[in-house]
Amino acid sequence: MPIRRIYLDNNSTTPMLPEVLEAMTDYARKHWGNPASAHRTGAAVRRVLEDCRAKVATLLGAFPDEVIFTSGATEANNLAILGLGHLVEEVAFAAIEHPSSLEPAKRLVQQGTRQHTLQVDPLGYVDSLAVCTKATLIVLQLANHETGTVQRLAKLRQQYPAGYLHCDATQAVGKIPVHFHQIGASTLAASAHKFFGPPGIGVLLVNRCIRLEPQQSGGHQQQGVRPGTEPVMLAVGLAKALELACEQMQQRHERCRLLRELFLMTLQQQVNFVINGDAEHGLNHTLNLSFPGYASDVLFIRLDLAGIDCSTGSACSSGSMLPSPVLQAMGTSADRHKSAMRFSLNHLLSDEEVVDGAERIAREVRQLQTHSLS
Ligand code: PMP
Repeated sequence: MPIRRIYLDNNSTTPMLPEVLEAMTDYARKHWGNPASAHRTGAAVRRVLEDCRAKVATLLGAFPDEVIFTSGATEANNLAILGLGHLVEEVAFAAIEHPSSLEPAKRLVQQGTRQHTLQVDPLGYVDSLAVCTKATLIVLQLANHETGTVQRLAKLRQQYPAGYLHCDATQAVGKIPVHFHQIGASTLAASAHKFFGPPGIGVLLVNRCIRLEPQQSGGHQQQGVRPGTEPVMLAVGLAKALELACEQMQQRHERCRLLRELFLMTLQQQVNFVINGDAEHGLNHTLNLSFPGYASDVLFIRLDLAGIDCSTGSACSSGSMLPSPVLQAMGTSADRHKSAMRFSLNHLLSDEEVVDGAERIAREVRQLQTHSLS
């Protein structure tokens, strides 16, 4: 009998909820057409699209004309950072950012924008933006994809009231309250497949007062900022998933907290490990654990064979098996970042699955220990 797999990689992607699939198929059964068409078939789907935009705006504390649909957060981060580049002289970022923010920020630097490196403390917090000026673009995530550390954006923004801020909120949206105007960001990115919506669609919120430079041309859609025919069915899925995530946020949050405690308790009874990031105040469903003395790539293969889906870092860098730049930036010792594993839970897991998952992990770590001693 095939082994039952336990999915502990929800920061990589989440399963689409049945209600989301139902909303999308219901749309597809009733409608088709191009939202840009002037005829009534077009107008009907345009109405659906604009309803989705309005719903997303309300749920994220923005105005409908500030919501731009993209193909996901990679595109949203690129569009924001490259699109704001012409307004600034300096770009400030820390090494903990996701590659889809880091790479466009580095591209701005290659094009002549000054670079300012933000420092990170051992828990993964950026402690100061005080040196930034109003000609600086700050690129700062809300929650970290590897450790779950949630930046203290409100406090940081007080030190830096003027100027531009791009916030990659991909791991935070749907998990913790996110209010675009309260954060005071110029732009903010999110992605539906991280909150139980369909892959292939994300949003970029763009403050009304800012004109982004489009990165593509050839269409007038979405104010010309992101041209191309909008995927209305995916927008329906994104809006539904976000609505459910916001409605159920408290219950999901509490469920994940309980599951995380259960997972840690089961593991603690059997093996030694250390937690990377701020376990107390970070995202409830994310755990980054180091098992000093064991290489994470070896452990990853063993866990995969044992039916555990997890990650050694962000999904985009797993496969390359390089030490995590996030943990390196936090000043973590080499032994710790070479043995780091990311386990990210979701509210749909049963207690029994979480205990079984932790026991399988403990068993694999103990077996590695036996092999390294023999
Ligand atoms: N930013 C962060 C923090 C992420 O975790 C991810 C996904 N790993 C992305 C951006 C890219 O998102 P997408 O898969 O939607 O392109």
